[in-house]
Amino acid sequence: RKLEPSRLEQKPVDFSQIDKELLPTVLIVGRPNVGKSALFNRLIRRREAIVYNTPDDHVTRDIREGIAKLGDLRFRVLDSAGLEAAASSGSILGRTAEITANILSKSQFAIFLIAARDGLQPMDLQVGKWLRRHAQGISTILVMNKSESLDDGDGSLTTASGEAYRLGFGDPIPISAETGFGMAELYGALRPLLEEYMVQVLNGEVTKGSSPSESEDSKLPLQLAIVGRPNVGKSTLLNTLLQEDRVLVGPEAGLTRDSIRAQFQYEGRTIYMVDTAGWLERTKQEKGPASLSIMQTRKNLMRAQIVVLVLDAEEIAKARRSMKHAEVVIARHAVEEGRGLVVVVNKMDLLKGRQNSKLYDNVTGAVPQEIQKLIPQVTGIPVVFVSALEGRGRKAIMRQVIETYEKWCLRLSTARLNRWLCKVMSRHSWKDQATQAKIKYFTQVKGRPPTFVAFVKGSTDLSDTEIRFLTKSLMDDFNIGGIPIRILQRSLS
Ligand code: GDP
Ligand code: GDP
Repeated sequence: RKLEPSRLEQKPVDFSQIDKELLPTVLIVGRPNVGKSALFNRLIRRREAIVYNTPDDHVTRDIREGIAKLGDLRFRVLDSAGLEAAASSGSILGRTAEITANILSKSQFAIFLIAARDGLQPMDLQVGKWLRRHAQGISTILVMNKSESLDDGDGSLTTASGEAYRLGFGDPIPISAETGFGMAELYGALRPLLEEYMVQVLNGEVTKGSSPSESEDSKLPLQLAIVGRPNVGKSTLLNTLLQEDRVLVGPEAGLTRDSIRAQFQYEGRTIYMVDTAGWLERTKQEKGPASLSIMQTRKNLMRAQIVVLVLDAEEIAKARRSMKHAEVVIARHAVEEGRGLVVVVNKMDLLKGRQNSKLYDNVTGAVPQEIQKLIPQVTGIPVVFVSALEGRGRKAIMRQVIETYEKWCLRLSTARLNRWLCKVMSRHSWKDQATQAKIKYFTQVKGRPPTFVAFVKGSTDLSDTEIRFLTKSLMDDFNIGGIPIRILQRSLS
């Protein structure tokens, strides 16, 4: 049963309320020097940009991604400038266009950027041609940067626009990334496009990007980050995980050093270790300073899908507390950002011989319970007890990592979900709820992590208790505990 869009309430989409993962993606494309980075920076303002590696054929490329804010609009914006930097350094020129095409296919919109000051150049025509070939089905808007000094009075604006029109992407929108001129017009052009897209997403009519089918989804390379305070044993653990399968990737000419990645195979899967370059070098060079910088760790988390948080068993036993403040902050952040979380308690060998003592029981028994209390949004976060020093724990950790990843990629059919919904709503525990908003329809709009939309009849919103109840029921009934699940709601008129 498909809902007719016309039957849905057509109120303006409030982008600030939309889950970041669901926001549309806009890729900025254009020849070097038109001002792509300048526009990207203006759109994300002082917000954090993440540098994102493309796992593509053993080649690492950096692309910047951020959440753009333009008036009340929010969208994901990608800056492809890093690709050019790599290309102009010569070593990987041939693959650049291909990789951009790959990223383009995962975007819903493109901003084709040209520069008024420089006039139309042969390379602009090439980019235009390339876009026409690769951007089918992707709405592209032509934006003319560096227009701050153009004027209608002397006809320079009309001349430049007329010339740009020849590209075949309609009339350009004149802006200046540097001064902010024309941002209102850019907003005006983007708003209807993004809004239309967002309504479709929220109605479950499109799933973000051209994502592969659910079974293929979980076969994609898995990006894993190991985080934790200094000296908990991250480097030791990393070597245990990599074993002899270790492959170091990069850096290639034109790429930053921190794009070095480690990669290994586990049961036929490719696993990428995110941001481990520092640790790998440290193991070779002996200790350097390494702190749990929350800011840096946050950035790294954004690049990972599954986060392994390492804790120190001896410290837990001593402090009688499973997590220190910084660890709680990181764990919560991982969950809030929709990453799958696996907790590893390392150095269990130090508690040996005390196995029947109270100290030991405290660690294995108390840690999972305490984590549950500290991070109540997710039930059943897996906790693995290992000793990296003894080289044990690889299997136990990887089993949890892969299980978590598979749940994270899960897709449930609408038919299954609505059969489930009928059952849930007839449960007493649901009927006892206060508001009893009526859910007419329930659908999964995306995986990675699983995100659902509940269509609610009338104007009553689901209460937080109801959302929690639904989340818990989903986790229990479909055995998908341990990962962050999101439930959004949308009202039906
Ligand atoms: P990219 O290679 O496309 O990412 O271009 P950049 O963002 O690095 O910008 C290239 C050059 O154009 C830099 O020197 C910028 O300062 C300049 N630039 C960017 N936007 C504007 C603009 O709106 N007006 C003017 N006059 N210069 C700009
Ligand atoms: P990192 O700072 O988190 O990368 O920690 P390291 O991997 O450098 O380990 C810090 C110290 O803890 C080193 O002296 C390791 O030998 C030690 N260590 C790591 N794992 C274990 C373990 O499982 N048991 C014991 N007893 N020591 C460990």
